[in-house]
Amino acid sequence: MPAVKGSQFIGWMGLTFFVPENWDLVHAKGNRFDGYLRFDEDGVTRCEIQWTLVSAGRVILDEQVEHYLKSLEQMLKKQGKPVTIRKNIHIVSRKQVKRNVRDFMWQANTVGYGMMWFCEDCRRALVAQVVGYEHEPVKDWAKQVFLSLSDHADGDWETWSVYGLRFEAPKGWSMSKSEIMPGKIRFVFRLGEYEMVVGRYGPASVLLKDKKLEEFAVEILGKETVERFNIHYRNESLHGHDGMDLVGKDKRAKSPLHVFLRRLKTGNPFPQFRGWLWQCEQSNRVYFAFGLIAPEHEPLWEQFANSVRCHELEF
Ligand SMILES: [Zn+2]
Ligand SMILES: [Zn+2]
Repeated sequence: MPAVKGSQFIGWMGLTFFVPENWDLVHAKGNRFDGYLRFDEDGVTRCEIQWTLVSAGRVILDEQVEHYLKSLEQMLKKQGKPVTIRKNIHIVSRKQVKRNVRDFMWQANTVGYGMMWFCEDCRRALVAQVVGYEHEPVKDWAKQVFLSLSDHADGDWETWSVYGLRFEAPKGWSMSKSEIMPGKIRFVFRLGEYEMVVGRYGPASVLLKDKKLEEFAVEILGKETVERFNIHYRNESLHGHDGMDLVGKDKRAKSPLHVFLRRLKTGNPFPQFRGWLWQCEQSNRVYFAFGLIAPEHEPLWEQFANSVRCHELEF
């Protein structure tokens, strides 16, 4: 994965790529089977990536490209300018991206470069396109994005990265909730009734002005978690920063009757709580990784919490 100066690394649903750092992720919809990402710069769309699962049958890529370009042409014509569309323009070669891609470009009111492909491994068909105006280096941007793009992770872990929060999550746990807003990013991953949560809040200098880290921890854990678990808070250096290590037991696990009934009902032990929370001075943010997990998930959770990057920028 080539890191380009002035670029940001994006990881989402198994996809990883670089885009220029001043492009903002403004839309992230769907799931790993059908999804869409859009990046804007000052309100202008710069890049869109879309994927869909094709679980059965053969994908005839050329047909898909034709179909897509036809609808694109109709849409562009409405802008009232003559539309030129060209196919197979070799923005990137199949060898360079190591997959069977079709590329195309258009010129109307805007200039766009696109790439479409089908991945046999994750069975997803994908389209990526980069848009700009004639005087802008749109082709270079497209090259940068397309060459860096990988559509699935090898192995059991996937890299997630948005707005300076980067971490790895196990593939089998599905992302069930994401909150992305200024000053707050939070992801929840689920496996049955178990959860792993990661996030960052900022600016730390404001959030922790009149508060100890422990008080802040209680706040972001939320009432439900605090009431459900007996949590032990311990100061600990984490990721090279001042932090807290949290260990909690489900209060119901104290009652033999509750434990018995639960085993009968679900066959599982009560989830236990694990958490790390630390203050990164360099980025002026508070990072955290929590887990409501079964005892056998402990090593998985530790790897998850360890994978969170805060101020380190090199990849
Ligand atoms: Zn793939
Ligand atoms: Zn840090």
